[in-house]
Amino acid sequence: MNNPTNTKVFKPNWCLGCGNYGIHAALLSALKNSGQAPEDTVIVGGIGCGGSLPYWSGTYGLIGLHGRAIPIATGIKMANRKLKVIVVAGDGDTYGIGLNHFIHGIRRDADIVCLVCDNGVYGLTKGQASPTSPMGFKSPSTPNGNRLQPLNPLALALTAGCGFVARGYAGNVPLLADLIRQAIEYPGFAFIDVLQPCVTYNRDHDYAYHAKSIIPVEMTLDRNEALSTVMAQQERTPVGLIFKADSSSRATQADRTLVADPGTDSVDITKTLEKYA
Ligand code: SF4
Repeated sequence: MNNPTNTKVFKPNWCLGCGNYGIHAALLSALKNSGQAPEDTVIVGGIGCGGSLPYWSGTYGLIGLHGRAIPIATGIKMANRKLKVIVVAGDGDTYGIGLNHFIHGIRRDADIVCLVCDNGVYGLTKGQASPTSPMGFKSPSTPNGNRLQPLNPLALALTAGCGFVARGYAGNVPLLADLIRQAIEYPGFAFIDVLQPCVTYNRDHDYAYHAKSIIPVEMTLDRNEALSTVMAQQERTPVGLIFKADSSSRATQADRTLVADPGTDSVDITKTLEKYA
């Protein structure tokens, strides 16, 4: 883990112009604006360019195996519910190998923020098509054009029961920072799919493309209405807080936290061990 008391924070090494810079700036701004102390914050990264963000943030941080950021974050939250736990992982990581964890993380509804740096490509491994690459996308793994339909992560999150569903854009840092602040304050699994230009391997979806395609969206408390909004998108991409559930109805988790529980060390497990001897 990074140590937040170590004041030396290194600079990111992403490609010049990468959308991850905007996500990084928005996350740091949101943490500051929500009064979140670095020593009470853990950022869990996945494998991918955006997954290295914990290195550069001055909070506690951990980078797990490919696709496993969400279960790691859930475990951290179970051990110490006083921590604010934030996942930052890519679209390949979260919607590919980690897709089951994404769905079951939503179902468990742990109080974590899940930011997905969605650039529609596997940038770290040099540009293969990812689950959100559009049809026809040419890449080293799809030289004749992608023949698979892209996943709709917002529709998936809504139908899995996610209580906070938003889409941000790395090119609009103030809006993204505000979405992340709201996600930090939401007491459950808060998901933000972030459009993140990869200037090296996905030049079809650069800043100019996103500037033309994104449209602001009104937040709704109606899940079906939100689903219609995200399913209706064709050429235009809705950006903003799309759906927020009434969090007063969610099951409350006990405030007990394993790391601070004075009784944990004194539990006698001898009889349990004898059963398996
Ligand atoms: Fe960013 Fe793409 Fe470079 Fe990775 S390869 S750092 S996603 S621009």
